[in-house]
Amino acid sequence: MPEREALKLEAVTAGYGERTAIRNVDLSVQAGEVVGLVGPNGSGKTTVVRVASRTLPPRSGRVLVDGRDPYSLPARHAARSVAVVPQEFAPAFSFTVLEVILMGRSPYLSPWGGSSARDYRRAREATETLRVQHLADRPVEELSGGEKQRVVLAQALAQDAPVLLLDEPTTHLDMGHVVGILNVVRDLAVAGEKAVLAIFHDLNLASAYCDRLVALNSGEVVAEGPPEAIRTPRHGGCTPRIPTASPLSPRSRRAATT
Ligand code: ADP
Ligand code: MG
Repeated sequence: MPEREALKLEAVTAGYGERTAIRNVDLSVQAGEVVGLVGPNGSGKTTVVRVASRTLPPRSGRVLVDGRDPYSLPARHAARSVAVVPQEFAPAFSFTVLEVILMGRSPYLSPWGGSSARDYRRAREATETLRVQHLADRPVEELSGGEKQRVVLAQALAQDAPVLLLDEPTTHLDMGHVVGILNVVRDLAVAGEKAVLAIFHDLNLASAYCDRLVALNSGEVVAEGPPEAIRTPRHGGCTPRIPTASPLSPRSRRAATT
């Protein structure tokens, strides 16, 4: 049987200098699935994203993206398989929205050519999906937090990678924007067949949007399964703020689209 997992970590241990940040982590995400990575601050969530995005090689264990080890591929090739939305986005220069989104096409640029017609088309399509087309010519630093977040997601989408990694994609957003972004993310997974691994600070939000959760504590996976199996106080549960019968529930959304 062919490998179904778009992203797989097998017994991955990784860290910084002397410090081990994650230990023996097993994790997989299939195409069409949104997996939430939850856990307290410092539990290793961002480290998992770094390892999976080819920025921090594991000390032991292995990573597979689309069935291949990204550390065995040139960076440009690996970037065609995995796109990352980092927690903080702070461009060093004043770029327009369209320029920022076009940067998502850099894994496809030829060394001597500029952006192709296809690159522009994919970038434009991403602006439409994230509903930022009216902002295309605006400098990104002028945008609100919610607009900026949509632009960064559009950049990742333009990258055309089957695996999407999101590091706390909703941190600085108000609830209306949170719902908007997460609905887009779910649609990307369900309609776009992407494998999404998203870090969440808020367990309720993670439960409402994810098919499965992986809970980390002190760098180790302490629980894994459907949200209802994870939502116990032991794993950092908090008072629900989203009703369980919410229309945001992935299952009801999925049922509505099939
Ligand atoms: P989380 O995203 O869950 O808050 P991180 O993966 O960022 O956790 O951090 C896990 C551990 O690794 C923490 O103890 C943190 O202090 C440490 N750490 C993270 N980044 C670095 C770094 N660049 N250098 C050294 N230690 C780091
Ligand atoms: Mg983090």
